[in-house]
Amino acid sequence: MRTKIVAGNWKMNKTFEEGIQLVKEIQQSLQVNPINANENIKVIISPPFVFLKPINDLLANSSFIYTAAQNCYSEEKGAFTGEVSAQMIQSVGAKYVIIGHSERRAYFNETDALLAKKINLALANNLFPIYCCGERLEERNANTYFDVVKKQINDGLFHLSAEAFSKVVIAYEPVWAIGTGLNATPQQAQEMHQFIRNVVKEKYGKQIADNTTILYGGSCNAKNAKELFANPDVDGGLIGGASLIANDFVQIIHSF
Ligand code: PEP
Repeated sequence: MRTKIVAGNWKMNKTFEEGIQLVKEIQQSLQVNPINANENIKVIISPPFVFLKPINDLLANSSFIYTAAQNCYSEEKGAFTGEVSAQMIQSVGAKYVIIGHSERRAYFNETDALLAKKINLALANNLFPIYCCGERLEERNANTYFDVVKKQINDGLFHLSAEAFSKVVIAYEPVWAIGTGLNATPQQAQEMHQFIRNVVKEKYGKQIADNTTILYGGSCNAKNAKELFANPDVDGGLIGGASLIANDFVQIIHSF
């Protein structure tokens, strides 16, 4: 059974106190109303870098909640003032790192070639990458969205060996759906997730494709998560806005 994941990307939100409070509320709620132990579900919280260590410490006793960084730098170490390396992230106990979020691609000019370097560094430092891909509105309207996503996956990930690739989580996040309140329909999500799984199958074979966790992201919330997650190739979600409210995030976790 492949792993199902609900990951909350806080982006640049919350003060330290607010963040700790949010995590405590999520933990308490999941204690009162636990997740189905028969499902292979992981919850990931991705706060800003500076909260990673204390939040990770708070989650030390949890068997299924992990932390992720929202980014890492593309070099191993050295004179890169203000940057944070994969090794640093690993050293504070985070297990995952989001790589190639569309906001990083758009505002920080991150290319697939740069992202491939980050993927390598994440894996070299025992972090599981959550690799984001997804088309922009004009690419959806021009019907080039399959080509766009295939290229992002090919250029960012397909240099990896099968063993290394099997540690990667893919997040399909159509840019037009992120933070807009306009989610992909369950049919649109399933169509793209199935396509991605086939692209992975062509490269690495059926077994690895069947085991690859593919998340949907883009205005996924407590109301639409159930319908989105019901699709056979949608293995959970990467959640932005709705991950900032404990009740909403927990409801999404209960949507499998
Ligand atoms: C995201 O930033 O990855 C995201 C999916 O945001 P939102 O849920 O707010 O659309």
